[in-house]
Amino acid sequence: MWKLIRCVALLSLVATLNNCGRSNNLANDFNGSEDRSWPDGAQIEIYLHSSVPQAMQEALIRAIDKQNSVLKKTFIYLNGQSKASGFDHDPTNFNFDDILHDDLNALYFTSGSLPSAEGAESPDAVTQTWFTDGEIGGGDIIFKTDKIKSESQAEVVMLHELGHLIGLEHDEEHSENIMHPLVNTTMLKGPFTPDYCRELSKRYETKDCPE
Ligand SMILES: [Zn+2]
Repeated sequence: MWKLIRCVALLSLVATLNNCGRSNNLANDFNGSEDRSWPDGAQIEIYLHSSVPQAMQEALIRAIDKQNSVLKKTFIYLNGQSKASGFDHDPTNFNFDDILHDDLNALYFTSGSLPSAEGAESPDAVTQTWFTDGEIGGGDIIFKTDKIKSESQAEVVMLHELGHLIGLEHDEEHSENIMHPLVNTTMLKGPFTPDYCRELSKRYETKDCPE
C-alpha cells in the first residue's frame, strides 16, 4: 500500500529570498524511522512535463548534477520526454490525489494553485512523495510558473525540492542549509553544508560532502 507524503514548499520571493514552508501529511508507517530514503542504489528518473519552460531546463539539470555529486550510488536523472503514457495531467488543474497514482516521477510548472502548507497560504512549489514499506517509491515536483522567474531561482528551488524528493526535511535551525525554509540564490555557491550532509548521510552513501 502506497502512502502519501506531501511536502509543500512555499516560495515567497522577497528580493532574492525564497520562503519555503512545508506541510506533511505523514502517514505513520515508517517502520519506526523517519529517516526515509529511496531504496539503496535507486535510479530516480524524473520526467519533464511539457509545461517546464525550455529556458529553465539547463538550470534544472545543473541542480540534478549537483545533487548527484554528493550521492554515491543512488542518483537522479532527467528524461526530457514531455509526454508519456499516464503522464497527461493538466498542470493548470491538478488533482493532487491523482497525480501520484502514476508510475512516473515528474516535474511540472503550473499557473494553477498548489495545496497549502501549514502556515503557508499560497505555496509556490510542492514536492509530493510516495513511500511504501518505509522507503520512498516515487514523487512529483510542481513549481509555480509566476514565482520562478530566473534560472538561478529555478536551480536553487530545484535543489531544495530534490532534497525533499530524496527524503530530507526542512532544517529550521541553519539558515545557510539548502533545506532551510528560507532559500536564496546565494546558496548556489555552496549548497551542501555539513548540516545538510549529516542528514543526507543518514539515508545514503555520500561522497564529496563536507564533514
Ligand atoms: Zn521545502
